[in-house]
Amino acid sequence: MMELLWLLLPVAAASGWVAAKRSSANRTVTVTDRTPGYFSGLNYLLNEQPDKAIDVFIKMLEVDSETVETHLALGNLFRRRGEVDRAIRIHQNLIARPTLSRDQRAQALLELGQDYMKAGLFDRAESLFSELGEMNMFQSQALENLLTIYQQEKDWDKCLQVARRLGQRTGVSRRRACAHYYCELAEEARTRKDLVKASQLLKKARLSDDECVRATLLQGRIEMLGGATKNALRLLKQVERQDPEYLSEALPSIIECYRLLGDREELTRYLEKLYQRHPLVSVALAMAELIRESDGDEAAVRFLGDYLHSHPYLEGLERMLSLMLQSGSTDSRESLTIQQRIVEKMLESRAAYLCSSCGFTAKTLHWQCPSCKSWGSIKPRQEFDET
Ligand SMILES: [Zn+2]
Repeated sequence: MMELLWLLLPVAAASGWVAAKRSSANRTVTVTDRTPGYFSGLNYLLNEQPDKAIDVFIKMLEVDSETVETHLALGNLFRRRGEVDRAIRIHQNLIARPTLSRDQRAQALLELGQDYMKAGLFDRAESLFSELGEMNMFQSQALENLLTIYQQEKDWDKCLQVARRLGQRTGVSRRRACAHYYCELAEEARTRKDLVKASQLLKKARLSDDECVRATLLQGRIEMLGGATKNALRLLKQVERQDPEYLSEALPSIIECYRLLGDREELTRYLEKLYQRHPLVSVALAMAELIRESDGDEAAVRFLGDYLHSHPYLEGLERMLSLMLQSGSTDSRESLTIQQRIVEKMLESRAAYLCSSCGFTAKTLHWQCPSCKSWGSIKPRQEFDET
């Protein structure tokens, strides 16, 4: 409660000054009329009785609208402390005042909208932010909040509209987020089995952001479903150019395409070149599998052993141990079994995905970070030693 006190002390002093100034100008309000209210309000705050304090401050507002700033600050503080009901009460009371200036009213609407958002009352918040837009006040903040609401409500069409308006206003491009909104709409179309619509939307996603891996992966899978394997392969290979960190997401489908085309030699050549460019563990595992198929378990174990010297990844070790167990020629079987179980457990408990914006970790791929709400910031982890 001390922070509230510090906030209000200067106001109390200022209020005395304003009142004194007014009384000197022969107005009716005097120091003695106004300051006691503040001090009893402060007293209630000090005694941890915020509701009584709010009553006092609201009563003072009836007398004089010079205290609007204080009410805004007080409401803001309550919201930040998580006392949303109190913040709402203060801001609603402010808005009900007919004497507010246009600026003050807009400021109070913005604050109340944020209270409603924090309370999860999105409908009410939405109408306040729309009202601000119509008033042409605090447009960017209002749009930013509307975008948060529409994302929460998964209203992707409205997200697209608002993001475009925000982009025009602020000059900051929202291309990446817009591509994801199109992807969300495309996923909905795919769920309805409307693959034509889904493809149209994914095209828009790629036009919005040429580096949208998600759109490429989705379109690739749609092409595969439709039997257009070569198209799918051409698309999926673009993930390497878009963002090689997502290669592990594309590789299973790429390998499946080559297998469907029955082109094993081409797959080997492709993986070898890919491996030279990006010695990622997912690529190494795919290589090891090909080697195992053509030359047997021991050759695959040798390949993985070489790889692990320079790239000590858990996934590689787990695969190598299980191949060693399978080949069965070793007399240290017991020890290998234990090692493999330990590695398996470590892999199970490990978050395979990491947000590059906020450090949030996840076991599955989220295209929007649940923590910081960034789009496309969660990527497959490459290092096993990060926690
Ligand atoms: Zn994040």
